[in-house]
Amino acid sequence: MSVAENHPIFSVKVNEAGCLLLPADIAARYGLLPGATVYLDVEANSLRLRRSTAQLSRLYVEPTNFCNLNCTMCIRNAWQEAAGWMSKDVFSQVVEGVRHLPSPPSVCFSGFGEPLSHPAITEMISQIKPFCQQVELITNGTLLNEENSRQLLEAGLDVAVANCRWKTGKIASVTRFQPVAAACGRKGLSSALEDVGNDVRSAAANVLRHADVSLG
Ligand code: SF4
Repeated sequence: MSVAENHPIFSVKVNEAGCLLLPADIAARYGLLPGATVYLDVEANSLRLRRSTAQLSRLYVEPTNFCNLNCTMCIRNAWQEAAGWMSKDVFSQVVEGVRHLPSPPSVCFSGFGEPLSHPAITEMISQIKPFCQQVELITNGTLLNEENSRQLLEAGLDVAVANCRWKTGKIASVTRFQPVAAACGRKGLSSALEDVGNDVRSAAANVLRHADVSLG
């Protein structure tokens, strides 16, 4: 295997029958199991093999539909549902389902509420992490602090995404701030946050602090 720009490159053999012999762990990770249907992107000098069409690659979990904010444009204003929080039992069933999948998916905690409003979000992440490719979280950023940033990272959170329309209707989108911080450093993330405006300044500070914790 060699590594180019964070994309691992493997060399694989073609056997006498013209079959591509993939490493077993790679085949399992992308659902390339016997009988699977896959698509090839044919390019001028390369073939790109996609994951199996039957593989569950991403699972969205909505831990709660409660949010600590009340943005005027939020879809939550258009319904009358009572706020609810996913129970431990229901989440354990989700983990059991994921555990028995033939290949591990990415799991994203998001939905129409703020996932960090759920009191057990850290436990949920650590519980499902061993059975996932990666664990992601979409947050409005306002509830992030140094303590829960550490706990979330220790629980195994791989990617946090701050992406929200705020009270003024401005879009503050700071996607995947851990990888941005890792790739560009805190300064790069700081400049990415410059445009978000004063209304989200405190959340932007939370995002920066989380990045600091993730950078160690
Ligand atoms: S932060 Fe997001 S989910 Fe919460 S009220 Fe605002 S738009 Fe809705």
